[in-house]
Amino acid sequence: MPLSAGEIMDRLAVVYGEPHHQPSFDPLAELILTVLSQNTADTNSGRAFVQLMRRYPSWAAIADAPVEDVIGTIQGGGLAQQKAPRIQAILRAVRAREGDFDIGFLADLPLEDARAWLRALPGVGPKTTACVLLFALARPAMPVDTHVERVAKRLGLIPQKSTPEQAHQLLEALVKPEDYYRFHMLLIKHGRRLCAARRPLCERCPLEPDCPSSILRPAAQSNDEPSSAGSVSKARTSAAAKRRSR
Ligand code: SF4
Repeated sequence: MPLSAGEIMDRLAVVYGEPHHQPSFDPLAELILTVLSQNTADTNSGRAFVQLMRRYPSWAAIADAPVEDVIGTIQGGGLAQQKAPRIQAILRAVRAREGDFDIGFLADLPLEDARAWLRALPGVGPKTTACVLLFALARPAMPVDTHVERVAKRLGLIPQKSTPEQAHQLLEALVKPEDYYRFHMLLIKHGRRLCAARRPLCERCPLEPDCPSSILRPAAQSNDEPSSAGSVSKARTSAAAKRRSR
């Protein structure tokens, strides 16, 4: 029987502390920052965002700048060739739809309408949508990034073959809306610090006794294959081999 979401959060909070949410109430900035953070370390994307804000006096100036100029500005954030045109396409779409760059009205739309409005922007998927709704506007949406998805699959909360779209829906159904931020932040921390993709540190994990993917269990007892199946299977096999050779 998998651990409940509540038990997982309670155990992880003992290790990582309780997350405290302070919404920014600046949804467009959150949207652009989230695009910059895709496949990039937080420090690099944060630096690229600051560079963008320093270089241009307004969202309109970013939208209308030569793309090469924007690429040069966010170069330090990684994948600038892809992200600069994506950011400009988003900003232009916002202006075309609303006449300006104020998307604060998303706070007052019915949740599914706000979600659909964001999803209709170019290159905006379920994770980016949920980040804007949750982090900027404190609305009940669950961002499922690579760490949250991997940990949730290893713990048996969602099926291994869930698509990102399904993972968002399943976890939103599993966790109480008021706990979305707490769940997201604790699973991200766990995925970064202990439940890493290549070699999870199960021996230090507070969830280990109840985790179906623990590499400390003999492979035969495991009822689940982790999301990064190859790497953890190898780690599990290697841990089992070490035990056998003792
Ligand atoms: S026991 Fe291992 S695989 Fe399971 S959640 Fe903890 S670190 Fe991840």
